[in-house]
Amino acid sequence: MTVTYEEALQKYEPVFGLETHVELGTTTKMFCGCATTFGAEPNTHVCPVCLGLPGSLPVANRVAIEYTIRIGLALNCSIASWCRFARKNYFYPDMPKNFQISQYDEPLCVDGYLDVLIGGETVRVGIERVHLEEDTGKSLHIGGETGRIQGAEYSLVDYNRAGIPLVEIVTKPVPGTGYRAPEVAKAYVTELRDVLRSLGVSDVRMEEGSLRCDVNTSLSVRGSGVWGTRTETKNVNSLRSVERAVRSEISRQAAVLDAGSRVKQETRHFHEDTGVTTSGRSKEEAQDYRYFPEPDLVPVAPPREWVSSIGASLPELPSARRARLISAWGLTELEFEALRNAGALEVVEATVAVGASPADARKWWLGELARRANDMGIDVADLPITAADVARISSLVAAGSLNDRLARQVIEGVLDGEGTPDEVVAARGLAVVSDDSALLAAIDEAIAANPDVVARIRDGRVQAAGVLVGAVMKATRGKADAARVRELIMERLS
Ligand SMILES: [Zn+2]
Repeated sequence: MTVTYEEALQKYEPVFGLETHVELGTTTKMFCGCATTFGAEPNTHVCPVCLGLPGSLPVANRVAIEYTIRIGLALNCSIASWCRFARKNYFYPDMPKNFQISQYDEPLCVDGYLDVLIGGETVRVGIERVHLEEDTGKSLHIGGETGRIQGAEYSLVDYNRAGIPLVEIVTKPVPGTGYRAPEVAKAYVTELRDVLRSLGVSDVRMEEGSLRCDVNTSLSVRGSGVWGTRTETKNVNSLRSVERAVRSEISRQAAVLDAGSRVKQETRHFHEDTGVTTSGRSKEEAQDYRYFPEPDLVPVAPPREWVSSIGASLPELPSARRARLISAWGLTELEFEALRNAGALEVVEATVAVGASPADARKWWLGELARRANDMGIDVADLPITAADVARISSLVAAGSLNDRLARQVIEGVLDGEGTPDEVVAARGLAVVSDDSALLAAIDEAIAANPDVVARIRDGRVQAAGVLVGAVMKATRGKADAARVRELIMERLS
């Protein structure tokens, strides 16, 4: 039995929550001095501490604690004045100690929020906690078809990642977003990624696993006020997958409930290729991990002055930047979202910074340049044209030396590597014909060739002048200033 997304939403209200793991960009690991560089030869960044050898003792990384506090403050959390690490006990081959050092009931940051903008509206996502832990190593299963342990001939383990500082950011359940739940989930992860990037605490690359999401989803029958059983979809590894995973879980759970069954509390896996989730293991309860305070580490008690000075050093966050640009550029929130979603925010800002008007910068980057980027299959920000080039082209247009059509040819020349805008204008002979006498010859020709149009204009139907303007633009191969041509035509016929 299948239930469409729309049918599911008529009957049920979705509630979602996200647990996001972020690898911090510290130079050394959480509890030892090993390097954290990605992509090194397996098992070269290891030592007795991160290999869990008997007798080795961990020491907490001060920078990782500072980064976590930065994240907590940026997410409007309270910072604990005293908290402890805890041992989370479970067995996994890529975790040599058989426990992970994490935080349990005493997280470093609690009770914050992150506002996300969606469809011109702000949705506030509550943050339950931000805590610090260590990453595990990585298992590689060789010889099977699926890359999983089932069917593999043997497995290898790489401990380079073991002990890299990991921050887990847990949202409160997010109810009340209705059919937009999948979009809001995606918008939250996008905003969170932008916040983390602006803080400089992580490279936030989802494809390299430095940002990983688990998505919790449940359904409640509309109007019942009773929340349903949630499932946890693991390791959803792209922004698009966040949206798809929530959407597919909503439809799946609705089908289960409609069939009179109960949703099982379990871990599920999202499959990129099919866009659906499949059942994993049944979910452990916290008690299964036998958490207890880590006896080898002293408590973390960040002095208040330190927390204040970290707060004072936070950069401009995406929400503040958004508010600033919306006001400075006179945009609506929807226009701002369009700019951000097109990946053009930075380039437009850079173009305005070197002198273009916000309207012109947006026009070129969202119009002609977005079209070219799309044709070339690259991001608009990766086009081989600089903000200064675009600002120069728009100033040539504003000065009347180029019209839009010529400007598009200049853009083409710059993208083709023909040099700066001025070099392209000179080499291709693209300047607007501004000499009135040259224009008048073409205008007289157009007037002579179109007596019926002239008659209509003289009858007061001035919009008919467009035909004559078009003829002159054609005769000058687009190099005339259309506004000036129209003026001269009206003078000629008056
Ligand atoms: Zn180490």
